[in-house]
Amino acid sequence: MTSFEIRDPVFATYVMGNAPLKRLATGFDWVEGPVWFGDQNCLLFSDIPNNRILRWTEEGITTFRAPSQFANGHTRDRQGRLISCEHGTRRVTRTEWDGTVTVLADSFEGKPLNSPNDVVVARDGTIWFTDPHYGIMTDYEGFRAPQELPCAVYRLPPDGKLEAMITDMACPNGLAFSPDESRLYVADTGRMFSADPQSIRVFDMVAGRPENGRLFHKISPGCADGMRVDTEGNLWSSAADGVHCLAPDGRLLGKILVPEIVSNLCFGGRAKHRLFITATTSLYAVVLNRNGM
Ligand code: MG
Repeated sequence: MTSFEIRDPVFATYVMGNAPLKRLATGFDWVEGPVWFGDQNCLLFSDIPNNRILRWTEEGITTFRAPSQFANGHTRDRQGRLISCEHGTRRVTRTEWDGTVTVLADSFEGKPLNSPNDVVVARDGTIWFTDPHYGIMTDYEGFRAPQELPCAVYRLPPDGKLEAMITDMACPNGLAFSPDESRLYVADTGRMFSADPQSIRVFDMVAGRPENGRLFHKISPGCADGMRVDTEGNLWSSAADGVHCLAPDGRLLGKILVPEIVSNLCFGGRAKHRLFITATTSLYAVVLNRNGM
């Protein structure tokens, strides 16, 4: 069922007309946070309203963790451990090799975090995560609570001292580093139900700090909830009509059209050239002629 929208001729070389978009599984309520485990040939992802983390393999879907504390975004640290953002407990956790869960961050300057949303780990082991207020703004997850901190992007270095790095975005959400980590991309999905254009900002990383924040691209339709980069520095972003591929200069190169609103994505498979896509009620995948980071 794949259809691609080519905006720049180079995008035609990124996709394969004979490799269709596959719906791997469906029947969920709102899926998010895909993370690839090549050592287990499986993908973990969140079904947030159903309070569970699911595990996909070629054999099917099983439950990895339930309850999941309404986990949203995930990644792996440099040692391969699972790092998770949890709405229900308003924290970022690490799952150790023995299966125990360690809380990495749940407050800043004595106040509870809002609802950590998405997370990446830099090469030096520093964990970067976003903390918008979505998880405490609505009753649908049952965690409506007063917001005590601004929506922010935090960094947590291996020494464990949490630091707020970006505090002037409405609702920072997905985030990704460029392949050489000279740039940090952060999606601003804005106030809930706002009609404002949804933007991706790019920052130059200067001595480990994001500086010179500026508009990179405005996703339309929809918003850049989750993003990943490929090895050549193209940014692949979620959107309402599928996945948009953006060049390092911010130009839209093309789209993978998906029949449901896309929330997030990640590269996986043996060559990291299979793009896994979480989209509303379903998990999709498509093989590309690009390799993900
Ligand atoms: Mg998100």
